[in-house]
Amino acid sequence: MHYVIIGGGVAGTTAAEELRKRDKSADITLVSEEHHPLYSRVLLPHYVKGKVPRERVFLKKEFWYGEQNIEWLRGITCKHLDPRNKFVGLSDGRELPYDKLLIATGGEVRAVDEDLRGVSYLRTLDDADHLVQLLSAQGAGSRAGIFGGGFIACEYLNIFSHFRIPTILFHRGAHFWTRSLVPEAGALIENHLTQHGVELHVNAQVTNLVGEKELTAVTTTTGEHAVNFLGVGIGIEPNFSWMREAGVETGVGVKANAFLETNVPDISVAGDIAEFFDPIVERQIQIGNWMNAMSQGRCVAKTMSGEKTEFRLVSSYATNVLGLEIIFVGDTQKSAADEVQVVGSAQAGGVTQVFGRQGRVVGGIMIGRNHDRVAITKAIQERKTLQELGIC
Ligand SMILES: Cc1cc2nc3c(=O)[nH]c(=O)nc-3n(C[C@H](O)[C@H](O)[C@H](O)COP(=O)(O)OP(=O)(O)OC[C@H]3O[C@@H](n4cnc5c(N)ncnc54)[C@H](O)[C@@H]3O)c2cc1C
Repeated sequence: MHYVIIGGGVAGTTAAEELRKRDKSADITLVSEEHHPLYSRVLLPHYVKGKVPRERVFLKKEFWYGEQNIEWLRGITCKHLDPRNKFVGLSDGRELPYDKLLIATGGEVRAVDEDLRGVSYLRTLDDADHLVQLLSAQGAGSRAGIFGGGFIACEYLNIFSHFRIPTILFHRGAHFWTRSLVPEAGALIENHLTQHGVELHVNAQVTNLVGEKELTAVTTTTGEHAVNFLGVGIGIEPNFSWMREAGVETGVGVKANAFLETNVPDISVAGDIAEFFDPIVERQIQIGNWMNAMSQGRCVAKTMSGEKTEFRLVSSYATNVLGLEIIFVGDTQKSAADEVQVVGSAQAGGVTQVFGRQGRVVGGIMIGRNHDRVAITKAIQERKTLQELGIC
């Protein structure tokens, strides 16, 4: 049996590890675009702030792959898939046959059109190294811009605040996470950021970068603003081209059933790129968090090695922006909910949103109200009604 895994992030590496545990004699090949052994993306902001040394972000050592008898093709990209003849085409020209294939390719950052020194992204360790370099070279009077209104924007806010760099944030929506938050919750975040000295420009789009080689300003729909850094956090975008050409069905992610199997035989998917049928919230969903990616890697390996296992998890993403705790649990898309109930208020310093579908709790967002997390997670797991949850 030859298992081929495309993508050496947490989903792909966990799957490789689990496959090896379950099948000592199988051939396992892990194709990884990045050169580094598995590292924690979650720790990257802490590394940038100097709170965690660089070596501590690694979760695997280079020798681990050999020790596990996992063929690790680092710095190699999958370019082509031929499901009929069961092989993948790699960037080094090789054609690699497979019996079972796993797609675990995560997503690539959405970029701004231009590039100047001072523009930063935060997805990979190389991005984090680049940001460390930029920050160490900063002079007195630096100013930072952030483009985005989600989790990565929060990381940039914390990083620039840590280095005491005045910050101006632009985002395209009326508030943070427009697809999930109601205006009341958005206002709470906005007030908090403003109170912490962040200059906020909502409904703003970065249109141009100004500077010769180095960034000196950005032009946005609200005018020109002097900045030396621009942290871009406007989402990730999977590269579907080679999968689509091969007939793999995609939507916002690679479509899969509750066993993480795609429409093409012997091809499964896991992690940020999966748009899977979630049997707990009963809809096709894509989730981008560490716990989800790792658990899917483990679960899909079971199915690939013959123990068909449904993926069931209520996962969460927790962050803290300038002291304000924000937690997303379960299915938090407003457009997929029948109702969104709001508990608390911006004035009271905390808002919880509960998402309901067909009377059942399917998701929750807590801003400054961590104490609701356990009850909401349990309610989603146990398919409770909003009334049974008892906080609405
Ligand atoms: C800065 C940052 C902070 C975060 N903080 C948190 C947090 O606090 N909590 C939380 O829950 N989540 C957090 N996340 C999200 C979490 O890290 C991701 O959900 C998780 O890493 C996704 O894992 P994955 O394996 O699905 O994808 P990825 O980690 O994106 O791995 C996919 C890998 O596949 C490679 N690849 C892509 N295409 C190809 C190809 N064609 N051929 C070969 N290789 C390919 C990519 O280069 C990449 O290395 C954070 C993310 C970032 C960037």
